[in-house]
Amino acid sequence: MSLADRLQQVLENIARAAEKSGRRPEDVQLVAVTKTMPVPVIKEAIGLGVTRIGENKVQEIREKYDQIDEDVEWHMIGHLQSNKVKYILDKVALIHSLDRMSLAWELEKKAAKKGVQVPVLVQVNVAEEESKFGLRVPEVLPFLEKLADFPHIAVKGLMTMAPYVSDPEQTRPVFSGLRELRDKIAAQKYEHVRMEILSMGMTNDYQVAIEEGATMVRIGSAIFGERRYT
Ligand SMILES: *Cc1c(COP(=O)(O)O)cnc(C)c1O
Repeated sequence: MSLADRLQQVLENIARAAEKSGRRPEDVQLVAVTKTMPVPVIKEAIGLGVTRIGENKVQEIREKYDQIDEDVEWHMIGHLQSNKVKYILDKVALIHSLDRMSLAWELEKKAAKKGVQVPVLVQVNVAEEESKFGLRVPEVLPFLEKLADFPHIAVKGLMTMAPYVSDPEQTRPVFSGLRELRDKIAAQKYEHVRMEILSMGMTNDYQVAIEEGATMVRIGSAIFGERRYT
């Protein structure tokens, strides 16, 4: 299958899952995850209508950003080291991976210096996997309360990754768990927090994630094929 065919299929699946959850296809935003993919392939995807690019490494964003002039949003979806914040602050539309206070301090400091507000999602390790980053569910409300003192950080929502399982149906409680947390936070009506975005769902499980309320899915291999790490 061609890139065009795979993208088309993903968009159709997104539309179907959105309708299943009583929403419109355009209520679910696609972030095309281009990690390890070369610039010409990314440009092909942009030519086919992709407008949001997701990368998980600062180095890759820096390299590709300079080679892609098209008007796209860059999304930082991977673990972010504090000492690398300075390289991406003026490049990314959204950081999906705010997962600790030390990173919040660094984001606040660098954003204040530039006189900007940095849009972020708080990453939540709903499934409490040892191997994954993110706050545990009970830590999220206290964390958000502390962010009231960080005027240059704009919290837009939450992000999670589900464990990889062969039957995507098993991921459903993870996604409903993040949705319930979102609703609980929204009910607090924090002045400094918006809960517009639920970033959840990857190739293996995006249809379940959308059924459970995802507003943003991060999809790589279903669009670009299997990644080859060299
Ligand atoms: C790689 C990655 C994705 C996309 O993974 P696929 O299974 O290829 O769709 C989504 N989110 C994050 C955080 C990733 O690192």
